[in-house]
Amino acid sequence: MFVKPPKLLRKFYPSIVWSKKTDKKEVWLTFDDGPTPESTTHILHVLKKQKIKATFFLVGEEIQKYPELFEDIKTEGHTIGNHSYSHINGWKTKTRNYIDDIKKCNRLMPNNILFRPPYGKLTFSQIKKIKKNYKIILWDILTQDYKEKISSEKIKENVLKNITNGAIIVFHNNNKSYKKLYTNLEDIIINIKLKGYSFSTIW
Ligand SMILES: [Zn+2]
Repeated sequence: MFVKPPKLLRKFYPSIVWSKKTDKKEVWLTFDDGPTPESTTHILHVLKKQKIKATFFLVGEEIQKYPELFEDIKTEGHTIGNHSYSHINGWKTKTRNYIDDIKKCNRLMPNNILFRPPYGKLTFSQIKKIKKNYKIILWDILTQDYKEKISSEKIKENVLKNITNGAIIVFHNNNKSYKKLYTNLEDIIINIKLKGYSFSTIW
């Protein structure tokens, strides 16, 4: 998948939020999947230390496994979004089943109106239904932190080279990304700050 989704693709899906329109030097940090024991604890620690807030797109099944981590994320003042109940692939799931899965996750986070599809995959019929109740959030910068072979340096470069006002940046909150982010998440955040950006969670 692309680090930066092509303009044409964005035009093709106008009802999806790819980035935020703003004149300010602000970016939106997002973490997908989880909660996951080591990864979530580490991310929360770094965010607290750097005094910034982020948005966590969480999986219902994982919330039920680790309710205390879910509470920690909320207590720390971060924003929560729906990433489906069982991390399903929209392209392989019937619309009715897909919507049920989202609803099941949302029972754990009533009043939530943010949704990010796992793998970024949705059909048009799913988009049509989901957008009635949720803002569908994709991304402007995919860090690719989930890739087995990617180096920590490359993840940092993916972020810093592509960053612009209103960028929505995706990291992951799972065991795969933890190996990569453990060493450099804080460094990346410090470098984003050095470029003059602040961090927003207002959608
Ligand atoms: Zn995911």
